[in-house]
Amino acid sequence: MKAIGPGYERTKKQQYDKIWFQNRRIRARSKILFTLGSKCKRCGFSDSRALQVDHINGGGSIHRNTGNYEGRSANGLWNAIKRNFFDFQLLCANCNWIKRVELREYRKYES
Ligand SMILES: [Zn+2]
Repeated sequence: MKAIGPGYERTKKQQYDKIWFQNRRIRARSKILFTLGSKCKRCGFSDSRALQVDHINGGGSIHRNTGNYEGRSANGLWNAIKRNFFDFQLLCANCNWIKRVELREYRKYES
C-alpha cells in the first residue's frame, strides 16, 4: 500500500466530514418532509426541492423568540416539529411566497 502524506489525510478527513454533515442534513430533511406529508399543503406540489417547512400561525416571532432553530440545523427543526407537530405544514416555494404576501396584505387592512 502506498504511503499517504498528512496533507492527503487532512483533505480526506475534510471531505468525509462534509459528506457526513450533508447526509445528516439530508436525512433530517427527508424525515421532516415525510412526516409532514411530502407535498405542498395548498396545491399538492410534491417536488421536495421546492418544498419548505412553514410555521402555520406565522412562526416568524416564535422563530425569533426561540433563537431561530430552523436556521441553525435541520435536526433542530426536526426536534421542534416533534414537539409541536400541528404548528408546521409543508408549502412549496410558490405557496409560501403567496402566503407571505397575503399575510402582509391582511395586516395592511387590519391597521
Ligand atoms: Zn404549493
